[in-house]
Amino acid sequence: MSIHTNILANIAAIQARIDSACQLYQRQSPPTLMAVTKTRNAAEIAAAIDAGICDVGENYLQEALDKKAELNSYNVNWHFIGPIQANKTRAIATHFDWVHSVDRAKLIQRLNDQRPDELAPLNICLQININDEDSKAGAAIEDAVELATLALTQPRLTLRGLMAIPVNTDDNQQQRHNFAALRAILSDLQETFPEAKLDTLSMGMSGDMESAIAEGATIVRIGSDIFGPRPTAAQ
Ligand SMILES: *Cc1c(COP(=O)(O)O)cnc(C)c1O
Repeated sequence: MSIHTNILANIAAIQARIDSACQLYQRQSPPTLMAVTKTRNAAEIAAAIDAGICDVGENYLQEALDKKAELNSYNVNWHFIGPIQANKTRAIATHFDWVHSVDRAKLIQRLNDQRPDELAPLNICLQININDEDSKAGAAIEDAVELATLALTQPRLTLRGLMAIPVNTDDNQQQRHNFAALRAILSDLQETFPEAKLDTLSMGMSGDMESAIAEGATIVRIGSDIFGPRPTAAQ
């Protein structure tokens, strides 16, 4: 089979999984399916877009910019989902529609100040280190309100919600427990800031998508189940 045929079939299979999970967990509207495209080339991304993908997620800035330039005829939403170095915020604020990995005050300030005036406000999610893992990016749970307070006063940003990459486990109950914890933090923020457009839970990857949908994911971020396994170095 060609790359195109595989990617098309994989996306159809994921959409079917999303539909059955929505039915099983009585979700009215399905989550957005983001294709996570780190290590994938422009032709593979184009195949995913041709198969109906409207949201593309990238982890590494330079790699993303190269591919984005090749794909500039496509009208999709570009999401930055990788760890952010402060010296990269200007390029991220210029070239992306969403940033899911905002985890400290300095990044909030810089992304706001560097978002070009002619573009719509940049959509951001606060990344929460939900299992408090030393190895992972993300803000501590107890810092969420302070960061949200700061983000909500920035005119060039729209705080949309939260993102997490929980501990990797096959245990469905554990997966759901972690996603429920993120949902609870979002509910607290919605109560604290009733005027804000806090409508996003960015959670769920290939191995835990159904659990995330069960707990209210509004964007699922899927890589390997669309494009096949990545080389281990790029996990
Ligand atoms: C790689 C990655 C994904 C996709 O992971 P898969 O297991 O390949 O679906 C989702 N979110 C983030 C932040 C990633 O880095």
